[in-house]
Amino acid sequence: MFEVHVTATFPAAHALRNYYGKTEPIHGHNWRARITIAGPRVDSMGMLIDFVPLQKEMGRIIGRLDHQFLNEVPPFDEVNPSAENIAQYLWEQFSASIPAMQPEFQVGVSRVEVWETDNCSAVYLPK
Ligand SMILES: [Zn+2]
Repeated sequence: MFEVHVTATFPAAHALRNYYGKTEPIHGHNWRARITIAGPRVDSMGMLIDFVPLQKEMGRIIGRLDHQFLNEVPPFDEVNPSAENIAQYLWEQFSASIPAMQPEFQVGVSRVEVWETDNCSAVYLPK
C-alpha cells in the first residue's frame, strides 16, 4: 500500500453555533488541511497519483473556503464549521474527483486531517 499527502493552508473565520449553548464570537484560524490518498501500487510512471493535478484540485476545493467566513459557505451555513466537519466535507469533496485521476487502478482518500492551530487537529477517516 502506498500513500501520498498534499497539504494546504488557508485563513478563514468561523463561529461555532451552540458552543456550550451560545454561538462563539467570530474569530479566525490559519487552517491547515492534509489529504491522504492511498492505493495498492504505483502506476507505469512509478506514481500512486500525480501531485500536479492533485495540488490543482486542492487549490480548487480549498479556494471555496479561503479568506471566507465559513458560517456563510455551504454546507457550513447549516453544518457547524468545526475542524471535524471541515475534515469530513473535504473528504467528500476530494472523494468525488480523486478516483478519476488514477485511471490504472483504484485509489481513494483514506484520511483528511484539519488543523485549527499547530497543536489542535481533527481527522476524518472513512469507515
Ligand atoms: Zn475556532
